[in-house]
Amino acid sequence: MGLKVYVSGEMKEKKHASISVYDHGLLYGDGVFEGIRAYNGKIFRCMEHIERLFNSAKGIALEIPLTKKELHEAIENTLDVNNLSDAYIRVVITRGVGTLGLDPTKCPDPQVIIITDSICLYPKEMYENGLEVITVPTARTAHSALSPKIKSLNYLNNIMAKIEAKQAGVVEAIMLNSEGYVAECTGDNLFIVKNGTLVTPPPEAGILEGITRQVVMDLAQTASLPVKEQQLTRFDLYIADECFLTGTAAEVIPVVKIDSRQIGDGTPGNITKQLLDLFRQETCYNSVIDR
Ligand code: PMP
Repeated sequence: MGLKVYVSGEMKEKKHASISVYDHGLLYGDGVFEGIRAYNGKIFRCMEHIERLFNSAKGIALEIPLTKKELHEAIENTLDVNNLSDAYIRVVITRGVGTLGLDPTKCPDPQVIIITDSICLYPKEMYENGLEVITVPTARTAHSALSPKIKSLNYLNNIMAKIEAKQAGVVEAIMLNSEGYVAECTGDNLFIVKNGTLVTPPPEAGILEGITRQVVMDLAQTASLPVKEQQLTRFDLYIADECFLTGTAAEVIPVVKIDSRQIGDGTPGNITKQLLDLFRQETCYNSVIDR
């Protein structure tokens, strides 16, 4: 039996799960989404993700045709139907079918898609040895253009940065904002460690406020590691003792090289490793996933 995908109230076989070519989600990237994980049968930080999804939707004046509770149940049902206890969950809300013009008020029927599957962003050895990343020319979208807090179906800004990284032979890009401060990676938030303190760009640097970012900040605080939000420049990255990225799909992954410069001693740092362990305990994925 193949994977089933929830499409606006129905469970469809993966190969038959589709939406209209007139859906503005496709025609204009008009919609919002969330990436969520389930570990050991439990949806990790479910309410935080649902809240962020509803805020993203409100931000683009899109009404999700389900209540938060109904959406939660639909996610649980999709996991159950597929018999999954460890999964990557993609919830997508599209504006729905409309005319061949931008006007979203001509799209009366937003669509809800829930995919439950697996994801592997980076090879296993990169979690052990660390990633090499570069800063790229494409700047993160400015607040004044489209708030990076909206997790919209418009990811071209991030995709441009990803292309620049891949063309340079690395798997991930650090995006700066239009003022030249560090914002985030294409689908992950960024942390550095300097003199024992964890530092990450503040929301006003133009980031998606990652749920994993918050989990890591909370774990650090519980472990008495000092944490602060502060604007970072490329210089701060180059002189960092450690660096790592956080995200639902990526989880916590060390960075050991930025713009061809070695970070620390070129291996994942001790505080990074400590947080990686704490994160694994928090998600219990140690015991249930054999990567
Ligand atoms: N920044 C961007 C641009 C993202 O798309 C994501 C999610 N993939 C993140 C940061 C990390 O957010 P979270 O920890 O909530 O997955």
